[in-house]
Amino acid sequence: MDPAATMSNTDCSKIIPLNVGGRKMQVAKNTLDLIPVIKMKLKDEWKHDVGTDGHLFLDVDPDIFQHILDRARHPTHFPIFWDKIRGFDYNRYNRLEAQADYLGFSELSEWIGRQEYLKTVQIKMGKPEIHEIGRIGIWDIETVDGNVEVERQVLQKTRSLRVCPRGIAVHVIPADQQKRCGRDCERAKGESGCDYIDETYEVLVTLRKTITLNPEAQG
Ligand SMILES: [Zn+2]
Repeated sequence: MDPAATMSNTDCSKIIPLNVGGRKMQVAKNTLDLIPVIKMKLKDEWKHDVGTDGHLFLDVDPDIFQHILDRARHPTHFPIFWDKIRGFDYNRYNRLEAQADYLGFSELSEWIGRQEYLKTVQIKMGKPEIHEIGRIGIWDIETVDGNVEVERQVLQKTRSLRVCPRGIAVHVIPADQQKRCGRDCERAKGESGCDYIDETYEVLVTLRKTITLNPEAQG
């Protein structure tokens, strides 16, 4: 097939056959015109890089190229390479940056270079909720949205308890609370003994993280 003939055909010139690193695809010329190096190839160097099958050959990774096309097609959306387990895929961003740079698609390579992609994922930490274990009977079953992560941690804490000289259980309370011992207790105490003991207790700390993906993040 003669590529020049292909190009001269009005209908075919709107759809360009590409061979991207061995993967064949067809892309609208309008989309490709947004990628400077390809636009230039389509104008001037068309014949040099066109194979016998009429496909314009681009020596780039086709998986990465797909993100360049996505960006050209949807200019308000930036690529998000992130997941909950591994976080950001920096390697993929690096490869995309290099390819965008190579193709003259500088707006995207600069966006990656400035690490603007860090803003595409926002993690909002809620205030920690602290409950004393023993006072919360059965743990509540909770349903959360897929973008919410719940972390629970049991912490050991120590506090000082005021001891009742008469051994009355309800008088034994944390030292920072209002005394419950009355005059009889004071009398029973006499001159002896310590008033306070340390107690270890456990609290359940619940943290909620809300994760928001924002593909429109702009610096
Ligand atoms: Zn008492």
